[in-house]
Amino acid sequence: MTFKLLGVIDPILKALAAEGYSTPTPIQQQSIPILLKGKDLLGCAQTGTGKTAAFAVPILQHLYLNPPHHDGRRKIRALVITPTRELAIQIAESFTVYGKFTGIKNTVVFGGVKQNPQTDALKRGVDILVATPGRLLDLIDQGFISLKDVKYSVLDEADRMLDMGFIHDIRKIIAHLPAQRQSLFFSATMPPEIVALSRQILGNPEKVSVTPEQTTAEKVEQAVYFVNKKKKPDLLMHLLKTEPVYSVLVFSRTKYGADKIVKFLSKKTDIDANAIHGNKSQGARQKALGDFKNGRTSILIATDIAARGIDVEEISHVINYDLPNIPETYIHRIGRTGRAGASGIALSFCDGEERPFLKDIEKLIGKKIPVVEEHPFPYVEADPAAEKPKKEERPPRKKRKPKSAFAWRNENKSIQKKSFPGKRR
Ligand code: AMP
Repeated sequence: MTFKLLGVIDPILKALAAEGYSTPTPIQQQSIPILLKGKDLLGCAQTGTGKTAAFAVPILQHLYLNPPHHDGRRKIRALVITPTRELAIQIAESFTVYGKFTGIKNTVVFGGVKQNPQTDALKRGVDILVATPGRLLDLIDQGFISLKDVKYSVLDEADRMLDMGFIHDIRKIIAHLPAQRQSLFFSATMPPEIVALSRQILGNPEKVSVTPEQTTAEKVEQAVYFVNKKKKPDLLMHLLKTEPVYSVLVFSRTKYGADKIVKFLSKKTDIDANAIHGNKSQGARQKALGDFKNGRTSILIATDIAARGIDVEEISHVINYDLPNIPETYIHRIGRTGRAGASGIALSFCDGEERPFLKDIEKLIGKKIPVVEEHPFPYVEADPAAEKPKKEERPPRKKRKPKSAFAWRNENKSIQKKSFPGKRR
C-alpha cells in the first residue's frame, strides 16, 4: 500500500516522502480514503499510531484543492482541538511538514503563555487552527477568532478531554461551528460519555479502529518491583546505575512527586534529570522536552497529562515510579517506549497500596507482569508492633548537638556524587 494509491496528491506525497513515510500506517490506510470522500469519521486510536497524518493529510488536500474565493485575508477553514499544549504544538508542526508544498498556513493557540504572538498570527490569516479548548474559547470571546468558515473540524483525544474536565468547553466550541462541515473525532477509549459526545458532534460517521494497545503491550518487555514507597527513590537510583538505560521517561502521579524525584537525583547523583508538568512554564516544558529529545538529558520525569503526546523515538525505558490508578494509563505510558518497531522496557514500582492498581492493569493487558524478586529494596510489610507510638506515648526526643558543615561532609563522603555508568554520552 502506498499514499499514492490512497489518492493523496503530489505536493503532499512529496512532503511525506521527504519525511521518509513510505507506507501508510493502518489508521492512515483506513481513514484517508474515507476522509477524502468527505465523510465524518469516528476513530478509535491513540497517539503513536500515525493518527495525526491520518487526519492532517486529507484536510490539507481538501484545502489545497478547494481554494477559497477569499477577499485578501485567509479564513480559518479547519480547526483541530486537542487537550494539551504539547500535542497542539506537535500537530501544528505536522501540518507544516506535510503541507510544506501546498502553501496552506496553520497556527497554534494554547494557554499558559501570552496571547499577543498568537493573536498576531491569527490577524495575519491562517487556513488551519490547532488549539487547546480554554485559550480557543477565550480568543473567540475576545473576538480574535471566528469559526464561521470552518469546513473541517477535528476533536482529538476526546477521552483525555473528558479526564481533564474540558467537555463543557468542547460543547461551547461546537456551538460556534457551522452545521455544514466534515467532522472527525478521535479517542483512544470509548466510555459512554464519549460515545454520547461523538453522537452529538458527528453526522453518520464511518468508524475506524486500530488497537495498538495489545501490540504495544506485547512488544514492550515489562517487569514490576514490589517496593515500599519510602524506598522508591533508592530503587530508582539503583536501576539508573545498573540497567543499560540511555533514555528514560519516569512517570510520577503528581507534579510535586516529579519535582521531588528531580531533586533527589540531583542531590545523590550527577544525573541530569528534568521534570515536565503543568506547573512549569511553557518555556521550561519545551526546553526540558527539547533537551530530552536531542539527548542532552537522559531522564525526563513527567506527569501523565504533561507526557501526553510526547513524541520521542528511542525511549529505552519507561519507569512507572507510581502505578496509575486507571489501567488504560499504564498502556499509554508504556506505549512511549517500543515505538517504531523497536522493543522497549517498562519497569513499574508497586508499593502495598498500589497492589489493586497492578491487578487492574494485569486484567486489562490479559497477563501477569513478571515480578523482579532480586533487588536491594524488597517490599516489607509494615510490622504493626514496630509502628510509631502515638505522639503522647513517644519518648522525649534527645536534643542533637548541631554539627558543622565540615563534620557533616566528612561523615557523608559515601553519598557524594558518583558517576552514572548508564548515561548517554
Ligand atoms: P502520531 O500517532 O500521529 O503521533 O504519529 C506517531 C509517529 O509516527 C510520529 O513520529 C510520526 O512522524 C510517525 N509516522 C506517522 N505516519 C507514518 C508513516 N506512514 N510512516 C512512518 N512514520 C510515520
